[in-house]
Amino acid sequence: MIATHNPGKLAEMRELLAPHGVEAISAGELGLAEPEETGDSFVANARIKAVAAAEAAHLPAFADDSGIVVEALDGAPGIFSARWAGEGKDFNAAMTRIERLLQERGATQPSQRSAHFVSALCVAWPDGHLEEVEARADGTLVWPPRGTAGFGYDPMFMPDGHSRTFGEMTSLEKHGLPPLGLGLSHRARAFVKLAEICLD
Ligand code: IMP
Repeated sequence: MIATHNPGKLAEMRELLAPHGVEAISAGELGLAEPEETGDSFVANARIKAVAAAEAAHLPAFADDSGIVVEALDGAPGIFSARWAGEGKDFNAAMTRIERLLQERGATQPSQRSAHFVSALCVAWPDGHLEEVEARADGTLVWPPRGTAGFGYDPMFMPDGHSRTFGEMTSLEKHGLPPLGLGLSHRARAFVKLAEICLD
C-alpha cells in the first residue's frame, strides 16, 4: 500500500510502481488516519508514515516524505513544506511566502535562488523490517510561477539544465525513468535506489 493522503504524490508513486507490476491501494482509500509527522528529518517522517500504515493494514507500506529546501532561507521550508500551505493546502500562498522572503533578502539573481527538492522513501514490511533511501533534485526558483502540471511547489522550481519548471513538464518528463524519461525528480531518483534494493 502507498502510505499517503496526498493525491499528487499518490499518482506519482503509482506510476513509479506500475512498471514493476506492483498495484497499490492508498492509505486515503483505506480510510486510515494520517499519523502526526513528529520527526526532525525527511527520513524520520517517511518512517513514521510507512510503519503506521504497515501496522494498520498488515501490508507492505511505501511512504514518501519530501519537501523543498531553499538555500537563501537557511533550508526553509524543508520538512515543513506541506505545513507552509496551511489547512487549506494553498500552495500559491506558500510559493508567495517563499518569494516574499527571498525578496526581503535581496535574492533576485538566479544564483541567489538555488533550491532542491528532497524525497525520503521508506518501505515498511509487516514483519517489521525497513528499507530507506533519500535523493534530491537541484534547481532554481523562478517568479512568477509557471505551468499547471504537477503539484505543490512545482510551478516555481526549474531543475538544473532545463528552461522549464516542473509545473510545465509532463509527468513522464518530471519523474519518468529511463528509457522513457530522464529520472529528473527527487522522487524518481530515490525510487531508482529503492527499486535496486527491493523490487528488481
Ligand atoms: P509531506 O511529505 O507530506 O510532508 O509533504 C511534502 C510537501 O512538499 C508536499 O505537500 C509539497 O508541498 C512539497 N513537495 C514534495 N514533493 C514535491 C514535488 O515533487 N513537487 C512539488 N512539491 C513537492
